[in-house]
Amino acid sequence: MINTPRYLGVVSHPAIGIRLPQVFLRGILYAYRLRRVAGGLMLSFGRETAPEYVINAVPGKYEISMGHTGTSIKEYLTLGAKYARKAGVLVEMEADHLTVTTSSAQAVKRISGVKEYVEIGDEDIERALKYIFSEVDEAAQTGYVNFFTIDACELIDYSVERLSGEDLKKRFRDVFGNNKEKILSRYINKRHLFIGSSGKSFRLVFSEEEVMRLALKYYRSLITTVRIYDYLEHRIRWPFGIEIAFDETPVITEEKDLLFYLRELWELNVPVDYIAPNIGFEKKQDYRGDLKVLKKRIERLAAIARTFGALLSFHSGSGSTPWSGKGRGVYDVVKEATSRDLKYKVSGIYFELLLELMAWQSTGSRPRKLYEEVYDAVIDYVRREVKTRGPLYSEVMERQLKEYEENIEKTQDPYNPLADIFRYYSFIALNLRDRSGDRPYRRAIIELYEEDEAFRNLVDREVADLTLRLIDGLGFANNVDKIE
Ligand SMILES: [Zn+2]
Repeated sequence: MINTPRYLGVVSHPAIGIRLPQVFLRGILYAYRLRRVAGGLMLSFGRETAPEYVINAVPGKYEISMGHTGTSIKEYLTLGAKYARKAGVLVEMEADHLTVTTSSAQAVKRISGVKEYVEIGDEDIERALKYIFSEVDEAAQTGYVNFFTIDACELIDYSVERLSGEDLKKRFRDVFGNNKEKILSRYINKRHLFIGSSGKSFRLVFSEEEVMRLALKYYRSLITTVRIYDYLEHRIRWPFGIEIAFDETPVITEEKDLLFYLRELWELNVPVDYIAPNIGFEKKQDYRGDLKVLKKRIERLAAIARTFGALLSFHSGSGSTPWSGKGRGVYDVVKEATSRDLKYKVSGIYFELLLELMAWQSTGSRPRKLYEEVYDAVIDYVRREVKTRGPLYSEVMERQLKEYEENIEKTQDPYNPLADIFRYYSFIALNLRDRSGDRPYRRAIIELYEEDEAFRNLVDREVADLTLRLIDGLGFANNVDKIE
């Protein structure tokens, strides 16, 4: 019997979110096995999953976006491990996005195209860490978690970018005291030479002002990352890996920023296997920028990460439909620019696929009826959220709702699975509760999958095909041969 799940080490692989483990695991594991792929199974701890005390709490006690899949940490880890063992597939169970945030609604907004920033105080950090530690505890208790992605993006201080001259120097002195020379010496007059996958080399040269700005910009994020790592080290008694989520920032990651962050983490003894920069990918959208620019950007960031023994991880990996990859040519660019050594993450796209499959069934059939119920519930929720300016409200949400309503007038179809308002907020359906605390839509979807054989076979096949497109598109086949 193979030893699964376990920490995979630094190896090119996909990591897939299992929002409804009971529904998605068969197809995903079938594809992993068929292509001899060792891969990740994950959920985001900042949003998608939560500890049982949150999942089982009375409705309304926690924000709806917290653990919005209705799948607890214990449940996805246990089911992931159980199914993988049964299928004989090597997997790593990941705790994605341990996010230091003021609220999970905030974290959800970050990924819905809303770039809205709030100041985080020290008390907020303590509260966020307490929550993260409780999540780690539940994960540790299962014995199955092997990987953690730390996300302290919200603690990046962009305001220092406006500082210069004496103001900057004073602030730097105040914060770093006796350490300031040491920090500067790590960057000033150093060679910092890198060689990209195309063979082209490049140098990064830092000015004193740049180093001071970087240090001030990142120090809270860095020290908080260390605190999370220390907790993991103390709590997890078996091999595990670390990824740094650097992707949910409002700007594309600069080369010097990536170098600085990795160099400082190295100094702080945090071993980094993967780092996820913001390379301009938006969730649920194909990449529409210039592919040459993208390639150069990835090549250079990958070269920097490599000098620290780390690979790039690509988040927001899904495109505008389950069939579009990340848009034409994007997988090839990602593959070439990283010399085929990368980690690639997708999650929400599997739930979108499931809803589309339900939408395709004939009018009046069980899957189609459930699909319409789910759709109505999501639109109802969004309407209320817009009307009451609730925690998930944003101008983007309001605009998407308006577009949806205008479109119904034209098409007379209130159930278009491709409507943005539905694609971006359908996730809410899994966490809508009734008075008894039940999640009726989530439960009905799982029952549909379990009881309707024809539909289950369709889902398994389409989930496997989606996974195969990902594996083949990014060249992950046979990666088990690279694992020790
Ligand atoms: Zn991310």
